[in-house]
Amino acid sequence: MNTIAAISTPDAAGGIAMIRISGEDAIRISDEIFTAANHVKVTEMRGYTCAYGTVSDGQEALDDVVLTVFRAPHSYTGEDTVEITCHGGIYLTKRILMTVYLHGAEPAAPGEFTKRAFLNGKLTLSQAESVMDLIQADSASALRVAQYAKEGRLGREMRGISDELVDLMSALAYWLDDAEECPPELERTTLTAKLNSIDTKLREMSARYQDGLVLRNGIRTVLLGKPNAGKSSVMNWLCGTNRSIVTDIAGTTRDVITEQVKIGEFTLLLSDTAGLRETDNTIESIGISQAYQALDQADLVLYVADANVGMTDEDTELLEKCAGHHTVLIWNKTDLSDAAPPEMPIPVVQIAAIYEKSTEQLAAVLKDLFGQSAGASGAIPLNERQNLLILRASEAVRSGIEAAESGNELDMMYADLEMAASYLREIEGEDVTDDVIDGVFSKFCVGK
Ligand code: GDP
Repeated sequence: MNTIAAISTPDAAGGIAMIRISGEDAIRISDEIFTAANHVKVTEMRGYTCAYGTVSDGQEALDDVVLTVFRAPHSYTGEDTVEITCHGGIYLTKRILMTVYLHGAEPAAPGEFTKRAFLNGKLTLSQAESVMDLIQADSASALRVAQYAKEGRLGREMRGISDELVDLMSALAYWLDDAEECPPELERTTLTAKLNSIDTKLREMSARYQDGLVLRNGIRTVLLGKPNAGKSSVMNWLCGTNRSIVTDIAGTTRDVITEQVKIGEFTLLLSDTAGLRETDNTIESIGISQAYQALDQADLVLYVADANVGMTDEDTELLEKCAGHHTVLIWNKTDLSDAAPPEMPIPVVQIAAIYEKSTEQLAAVLKDLFGQSAGASGAIPLNERQNLLILRASEAVRSGIEAAESGNELDMMYADLEMAASYLREIEGEDVTDDVIDGVFSKFCVGK
C-alpha cells in the first residue's frame, strides 16, 4: 500500500501538533527529513522508541521535534508508522507535512489510518466505527458507550448469535444431504423455539440502539407543568443562568426554549415549554401545541408541580399524558410549603428552584432511570448501519420461523438462516463491499 500522511491533531494553533505517516515508505521518508540529536538513523530505530532531533526541508531546519517509530504490525494501522510531534503552529505543521509529501507520501483520506487498521485486521468494522464516537463523546455516558464498542462487546454478542445460526445450519445441511431421520434439534417445536429466542435477542439488541442514542447524544427532556408551577425557574436552576424569563404572570414562556446541560454523567437536551393550560391566546396556544410535540419526542419528562398549591386534578390529568415516557415529579417551591408530595409510582425530586444550587438529587434519579440502558453486556448498536443489519437479520430469522411453522422446504429455511448470519457478520465487516467500507470511513476526519 502507498504511504500516507496527515496532521492528526486539530487544525488550530496549540502547544504541540502531530503528523502521522503510515506505509512501507514511512521510515525511509522520516529518515530523509529528520536528523536525531544522538545521530541515530530512523532506519535503525526499533519500534516503540522515539528520538529528539530536527526536521528540515533540505534547505533549512523547520523545527525541533520528537519522532516516534512503530514497526509493522505493532502500530495503529498495522503498517510501519512514524509520528512526528512538533510545535503546534498551523503554518509550521503544514510546512513539515508538505516536506513529508515532497519525499513521497500521499495525503491521507478522511479516516484512512483507521481504515487501514481495519483492513489489516487490527480492528473490526464496529470497533473502527467506535473510534469516531470516542473522539466525539462529550459526557461520561457517551464515553462509556463508545468504550464498550471499542472493546468489541457488540461484536462478541453478534458472533454468539451468528454461531447459534451456523450450528442450526450445519444440522439442516446434514439432514438435507444424508440423514434419514430428523436430528432432534430440528424437531419443529425445538427449532421454532430456538429461532424465536434468537429473534428476541436481536430485537432486544435493536431496542438498545435508541437507549444508546440517549446515552450518546443526550436525553431529550421536556419541562412540563401548569403555568406558574416554576418550570422556567427549574430550567434556570439546571442551566445555572437566567435563560428562561421568569415572571409571575401565567403564560410568560410562549415558545420552546432548548438548552444542553450536564447533570451527573448525562447530558440533558432541555426544552422549557409553555405552561399547559386552556387558553384563548393564539400565540400561547401555538406554544402549548409545541409543548405537546416536544412531549411526543421526549425521552424524559420533568413534571413541575407547585408544592404550595398542591397536586391538582389538572396536574394528575397532565401527568397521565406523560405515560410511556420516563417521568420525574419536580415538587417545587418547598420553601413555601411543607406539604409532602403525593404518593406516585414515579421518582420525586423536592426543591425550591429559585434557591437550589445542587443537582445531585436529580443526577441520582437519572442514574436509576438511564444507568442500565447499556444492558448487562454493554453491547449497543452504535449507528444506523449496525441497527439496520440487526433488524434485517431479525427479519430473515422470522422468515425462517415461518418456513419452519408452515413445514416449507428446509432449503428455504437454510437460505433464511444463512442470510441472517451474513447480516450479522457484516456488522463486524466480514464479507462487506468496498462501498460499505468507504461509506463508514467517509464520516471520519482527516488524520484519524
Ligand atoms: P412557569 O410559568 O412554570 O415557568 O413558572 P416560573 O418559573 O416563571 O415561576 C413562576 C413564579 O414562581 C415566579 O414568580 C417565580 O419566582 C416563582 N417561583 C418559582 N420557583 C419558586 C420557588 O422554588 N420558590 C418560590 N418562593 N417561588 C418560586
